[in-house]
Amino acid sequence: MNRYVAVAIGIDLGTTYSCVGVWQNDQVEIISNDQGNRTMPSCVAFTNGGRLIGEDAKRLIGRRFSDTKLQEDMKLWPFEVIKGSNNIPKILVSYNGENKEFSAEEISSMVLIKLKEAAEKFLGKTVRDAVITVPAYFDDSQRQATKDAGHVAGLNVLQIINEPTSAAIAYGLDMKNDIVRDINVLIFDLGGGTFDVSLVTIDKKGTIAVKAVAGDTHLGGQDFDNTMVDFFVEQFKRKHSIDIGKNKRALSRLRVACEKAKRVLSSIIDTTIDIDSLHDGVDFSMRISRAKFEKLNEDFFSKCIEMVEKCLGDAELHKKQIDEVVLVGGSTRIPKVQQLLKDFFQGKELSKKIHADEAVAYGATVLAAKLIGCSGKKVSNLVLIDVVPLSLGVEVRDGSLSIIVNRNSSIPTKKERNYVTADDYQKVITFNVYQGERTRAVDNNWLGKFEVAVPPAPKGKSQVRVAFDIDANGILNCSGVELTTGLKKGIIITNYKERLSTENIEKMLDDAHKYKLKDEDYKKTIFARNALEGYIDDVKSKIKKIGNTTKRFNNKDLQLMETAIEKASEILKQSRVVDFDEYQKALNQLEKVCLPIIAQHV
Ligand code: ADP
Ligand code: MG
Repeated sequence: MNRYVAVAIGIDLGTTYSCVGVWQNDQVEIISNDQGNRTMPSCVAFTNGGRLIGEDAKRLIGRRFSDTKLQEDMKLWPFEVIKGSNNIPKILVSYNGENKEFSAEEISSMVLIKLKEAAEKFLGKTVRDAVITVPAYFDDSQRQATKDAGHVAGLNVLQIINEPTSAAIAYGLDMKNDIVRDINVLIFDLGGGTFDVSLVTIDKKGTIAVKAVAGDTHLGGQDFDNTMVDFFVEQFKRKHSIDIGKNKRALSRLRVACEKAKRVLSSIIDTTIDIDSLHDGVDFSMRISRAKFEKLNEDFFSKCIEMVEKCLGDAELHKKQIDEVVLVGGSTRIPKVQQLLKDFFQGKELSKKIHADEAVAYGATVLAAKLIGCSGKKVSNLVLIDVVPLSLGVEVRDGSLSIIVNRNSSIPTKKERNYVTADDYQKVITFNVYQGERTRAVDNNWLGKFEVAVPPAPKGKSQVRVAFDIDANGILNCSGVELTTGLKKGIIITNYKERLSTENIEKMLDDAHKYKLKDEDYKKTIFARNALEGYIDDVKSKIKKIGNTTKRFNNKDLQLMETAIEKASEILKQSRVVDFDEYQKALNQLEKVCLPIIAQHV
């Protein structure tokens, strides 16, 4: 009998190259594209406007236009980036003689569509479910945005998983029979745009527990290319008295040549770059040695080693306790990088057992297979315990970041902390949520804010317990309980809403072949609806409880609360699900009326 078999794919959405795997016959198949390549450039081509590269989309994704790093990057890009509504950066391209704007999510979704199609062609089946990987160091908004991109591409994103963790799965499977005790594995992933280190423990049953991650979402092969470009621009100036620093086309040709030369320098120690008529008919011809290349990038390379040290420190392990050092990512082919790492680990041989370019997609595919319920020894034993890469907390009165979830906490996790009012008779406490390690809140990534109403009282008297709930994707949900009344408010922080409104997603969905998968948005709306419903029930039961005591309400207050409850209940009675914002608004209004009254009676 022919039975429908669900298929799931694993996607390594790289900054430079992407890779997709499918689960078939109890094993992973990495798919080649039409040209027979098993990794595919993460690029989207727009004719005559030059090509637009997916790698840049990954550096844009989940960022705000005002981000200082983004402003720096923009200077190097061959295309224009403008400020869209709500501070979302948009890429401007001319396409068929028309100017069009794209968000990073849209560009990434185009790459994802390409990979999805390659998988479908290979399998001869429609693909819906996918696991997508992100750099371990991506913050909450970058993860959310990647999920959105998947969603726009018509994919049901089963899970967002960290790239090095995914590589660890591949490594764990490969090693399974050789593992007789818990082993500590350091995954060193240096790609085109990002750098991640991850320390994992693998046990003989197949449990992969991440102990710590460290890295930089902004360090990789492209930076090495750029230092070479800068160097040659200087040399060219010296030799020909010509500054090509403003000639975008020349710079971009030089950058391509430098990237090639860099690869050559990984196998031989000296090379020459020749470019015909680089600027005003002047040819470019210069040589560069491996030693020079290493010198130019020594700061970047030492930063990688520093990150390894930090990761070991966070995991509270000594370098002698590391059993295996595993290399992942194209830039780990650089001999100097390997040598520094080997020296750091006192001469330890580095493991090249897994494929540096395919391991991330490989691991993601195994996880995808597990999540859609495939059986088989390989997948059923897989247990994954990941961590949050960056601390999460709220800003407090003195401007510092009060941490609620520490970095490297295992996920999923839920942590709580109490906060008191800082002003006399203040009516709400506003929580600004940040992610990062800097002491001053504003120096970290702002994720959004939420408010919890409190009964008016002298400062320090009203208290809210804030809970941060992080799911297996590393994505955050918040809630706050006002402690005098015990009323609990479920909240979704609002930055995400500001970045991508439902309308925006809707439009993107239309553009992307009218896919109708709105699961994520729907989930959020349902969360808000449930939060409202829960709050109404809470208030009702409090009123009833207090009504039976000596502290009864006066008629006016009771009337006020009943009207408010009725009003809030109205939108729950509607048969259609209304917008996320409307539920949040109704919840806030109900809270504003009932909380101060109830507080006087407890
Ligand atoms: P990502 O995961 O960020 O897409 P990859 O792991 O695919 O990145 O690595 C791409 C980077 O690796 C590019 O910057 C590329 O120039 C670099 N790279 C690939 N091969 C070599 C090599 N032989 N020597 C040095 N760098 C290399
Ligand atoms: Mg990668």
